[in-house]
Amino acid sequence: MATASRREHTTKNTRNDGAFDVIPFPIYVVDALTLELVSVNQAMRRKTGAEAGQTCHKAIYDQPSPCHFCKIGPLSEAAAHGPAAMVFEHFNDRDDCWYQLNETLMEWFDGRRVKHSIAVDIGALKDAQNELSEAYALLALKSVELEKASITDTLTGLFNRRRLDEAYAHELDRAQRYAKPVSLIIGDVDHFKAINDTHGHQTGDDVLKSIAELLRSGVRAVDIVGRWGGEEFLVICPDTDLDGAQALAEKLRSSIAAEPFPAIGPTTSSFGVAQYRAGESFKDTVARADTALYKAKINGRNRVES
Ligand code: GH3
Ligand code: MG
Ligand code: MG
Repeated sequence: MATASRREHTTKNTRNDGAFDVIPFPIYVVDALTLELVSVNQAMRRKTGAEAGQTCHKAIYDQPSPCHFCKIGPLSEAAAHGPAAMVFEHFNDRDDCWYQLNETLMEWFDGRRVKHSIAVDIGALKDAQNELSEAYALLALKSVELEKASITDTLTGLFNRRRLDEAYAHELDRAQRYAKPVSLIIGDVDHFKAINDTHGHQTGDDVLKSIAELLRSGVRAVDIVGRWGGEEFLVICPDTDLDGAQALAEKLRSSIAAEPFPAIGPTTSSFGVAQYRAGESFKDTVARADTALYKAKINGRNRVES
């Protein structure tokens, strides 16, 4: 009786293997209870060497015990509520390949409960996917770098004029909405031409970088420091009235004056300060800060005026 039943299985399986053999991707059928391979099509046999009658995890994955990722358990649970099928991607360590597995729990011709698996090699797709995501990550990085470059002064790393324009528009909007003051400080290095002439342009550049750093570290986190032009810097001071901006400018002035600048010796800067007045454009307020700066220059430099 047992022999007849076994022969019955074999006949049916063989007939079925033949039908599956025309399908170009690997197909295999596993007894859900014993994990015996019930049917293995030609593509699967070629790929793995597995044969019907062998144990699934040994023949396909070279594992001594059932694989931890085996879907028979989850499929059996799902089957309690209706047809159970799963499509998932799996990386097979044994042949170093990615597969998309389409697995279904079903009743086989002989009444056995089996897991029917179709494995499609998606290695090329995965490679393309990986290349695409790497390219996307690179693109995202580049676009951040580009965006940064478009708003940053290359010499000092401070905001450039374009970004200062945008930042001021934003701060002015906030200031008006919350009825808060906003002020500007313009700083200009004293006798900078002489520094270039005496020590060279490269040393001049280094001095500008050092001054930029002093300004950056001398302001509050909410203040916005940018390079306005050559050796001129602009600080936007949100929520700051004229007195507050003057005090900050004084602090910046003294920090520059106290810096030893080993390559050129001590140097100074002059500052002009203006608080935004209702109805003014950015240009108007900058012009008033500039006039104050001019005043600081003619009043002897190394000072703050408003
Ligand atoms: P003042 O005290 O009146 O401001 O005198 P000054 O010499 O600083 O003013 P002036 O405007 O005559 O000179 C500014 C100099 O800054 C001239 C220009 O060559 C130099 N400069 C502008 N941009 C750069 C730069 O990026 N690097 C260097 N090294 N020098 C620069
Ligand atoms: Mg100058
Ligand atoms: Mg100047």
